[in-house]
Amino acid sequence: LFITLEGGDGSGKTTQSQLLTDWLEQRGRTVLRTREPGGTEVGIAIREIVLHHRGEIAPRAEALLYAADRAQHVATAVRPALARGDVVVQDRYLDSSVAYQGAGRVLDGTEVRNLSLWAAEGLLPRLTILLDLDESAARGRLDAANKRFDRLEAEKSDFHGRVRDAFLALAAAEPERFLIVDAALPVEQIAAVIRDRVAALL
Ligand code: C5P
Ligand code: MG
Repeated sequence: LFITLEGGDGSGKTTQSQLLTDWLEQRGRTVLRTREPGGTEVGIAIREIVLHHRGEIAPRAEALLYAADRAQHVATAVRPALARGDVVVQDRYLDSSVAYQGAGRVLDGTEVRNLSLWAAEGLLPRLTILLDLDESAARGRLDAANKRFDRLEAEKSDFHGRVRDAFLALAAAEPERFLIVDAALPVEQIAAVIRDRVAALL
């Protein structure tokens, strides 16, 4: 069972993936909890480039770096875990590429999606949880936690609006794969909604 969590920075993906993993493990499931970019050794090196490189990375180069990270991650970590019958709970996957490199960077969303599918040899999640949150709420949360807001500082808020809209459009296009959750709800309430949906898939 392959489950991904998507949403902007500060939407609570990390918190919810941890809570979901704990719950699955209590139910006796073996879980690979992982993330992109940076779920493998190669991926950690790529993450360093895409997130900390000084200066501009051309949009197509960025898209290819994320695709390379994804190819390595799927081939060496995700597929082997799924083949063992483990549950994979993953922060970000191809929908992030369509939203950030596609809508955010204004590349063609279909091309970015096809690039991702090629990199991942067609692997799609059974369930994608979209934690939907507006920018000011996300910013407030990360400020409160004293965390970085990554690109939110550097980019125009327009960028984040496009990314959010792209995630919502992806969810609307594949309603059976997506669960949209209002990320402004209390953490425990969100976790319960997610558990209900996942329980039906076990
Ligand atoms: O999820 P995490 O906080 O680790 O993501 C790090 C950053 O990478 C995010 O701020 C996001 O802007 C960026 N990202 C991206 N394209 C992706 C995945 C992540 O621009 N496909
Ligand atoms: Mg996070």
